[in-house]
Amino acid sequence: MPIATVNPATGETVKTFEPLGAEAVEACLRKAESAFRSYRRTDFASRAGLLASAADLLDKERDDIARIMTLEMGKTLAAARAEAAKCAKAMRWYAANAERLLADEHPDEADVADSGAHRAFVRYRPLGVVLAVMPWNFPLWQVIRFAAPALMAGNVGLLKHASNVPQTALYLGGLFPRAGFPEGCFQTLLVGSRAVEGILRDPRVDAVTLTGSEGAGRSVAAVAGGEVKKTVLELGGSDPFVVMPSVAGELEDAVVTAVTARVQNNGQSCIAAKRFIVHDGVYDEFAERFTRVMSSLVVGDPMSEATDVGPLSTEQGRADLEELVEDALAHGAEALCGARRPKALPPGWYYEPTVLTGITADMRIHREEAFGPVATLYRVSDLDEAVTVANDTPFGLSSNVWTRDEEEQRRFARDLAAGGVYFNGMTASHPALPFGGVKRSGYGRELSGHGIREFCNVTTVWYGR
Ligand code: NAP
Repeated sequence: MPIATVNPATGETVKTFEPLGAEAVEACLRKAESAFRSYRRTDFASRAGLLASAADLLDKERDDIARIMTLEMGKTLAAARAEAAKCAKAMRWYAANAERLLADEHPDEADVADSGAHRAFVRYRPLGVVLAVMPWNFPLWQVIRFAAPALMAGNVGLLKHASNVPQTALYLGGLFPRAGFPEGCFQTLLVGSRAVEGILRDPRVDAVTLTGSEGAGRSVAAVAGGEVKKTVLELGGSDPFVVMPSVAGELEDAVVTAVTARVQNNGQSCIAAKRFIVHDGVYDEFAERFTRVMSSLVVGDPMSEATDVGPLSTEQGRADLEELVEDALAHGAEALCGARRPKALPPGWYYEPTVLTGITADMRIHREEAFGPVATLYRVSDLDEAVTVANDTPFGLSSNVWTRDEEEQRRFARDLAAGGVYFNGMTASHPALPFGGVKRSGYGRELSGHGIREFCNVTTVWYGR
């Protein structure tokens, strides 16, 4: 894949970039290794000051970087601005909380004595140079949610960003040095995916985090496994959105939230709700209202404030989505709306918000991730069936359930196989809450104390009697 900015709203190639050659990559690795040697000894207060400065810069430059994101991957300008603001907030959160999250841990005195020590504790020390392989869909947020905790823990970062967001990648590579971080603490490597293996095998790289597709995760984890290097994988998702009869009186809220959960980021979010599993008691009304709102969304130019849904990020992304929909229709699914490209729009990679019913297990869309504004509707007759359908997926990122019944809430929280269970709302990440999945959605966690400890050497410090 060439490294280039290609505007998804028009298909036009705006700018192409030469990938870094072997010598330039080597120079970056040297700088990273050398930066870690001194940066690891800095204290939390100085790291926090640097990260807060980076957050201030990002706030000041919000409109500029938002326009770059929209140009490169097609999210609406409003969504791009919100993403930049969220990044600054997460940076400040880690600046304020990292020291507390990584404070020494002291086991029970009796256990310390039982281990033969007069004193023992756990200390979180940085791992070293962490390679981040990142996707285009939240081109700023995915990187910041790795970089903020990694830098606060005393690690240094190397970013290999997706090839279709090079200008966002270069912005990130400049942000941290401009905020005062020492040279080499955070660098962008403009390289294609084929260069990842060599970089990861380099002894100066200690760990890797990858957010992206299952295929990319599998291959990076295989290399890291061969080198015995720590990995965190944040992969795809096909999150369920369950609606039970106890919310019959607030169905409009559930519908509006369901639509937002499906079409956020033009439908290209790992935690977007993708499968809508609705109890028989409210199914007909939900389906009718949900389809009405989905078909009323404005599809168009992502730079326009009036647009709800912009284009898909790449031509291939739209082709993949169309294939999933066509396969479902060929196997007997019915389209309540959409299932086609919009007429009368410029030649970008647009697709109409789509609702499909009559989904069966032999359709690809039942098991694969629909990365675009396409929702599948399932009718279920009770809670057990809702749980069975919700869990009948290779993924396990997050889940959403609308019910006011406390016993049902207890059952869903116990039985849904996912990294999150969100009641009467929709899944959204927050710096204080862990984020990540089970099954083929990956392993490890980002954000919160769990995220910052992923790339730490959890060290036992023990003093004999
Ligand atoms: P992708 O094709 O897997 O790309 C992600 C990153 O991995 C890019 O930097 C890509 O580089 C690189 N890459 C691809 N194949 C590779 C390989 N074999 N070895 C090393 N690096 C490789 O994914 P995407 O299409 O950009 O993103 C969409 C996917 O990400 C969806 O499945 C989505 O659900 C998932 N996602 C998950 C989360 C989460 O937190 N769980 C968040 C966001 C997105 P190139 O661009 O150069 O190919």
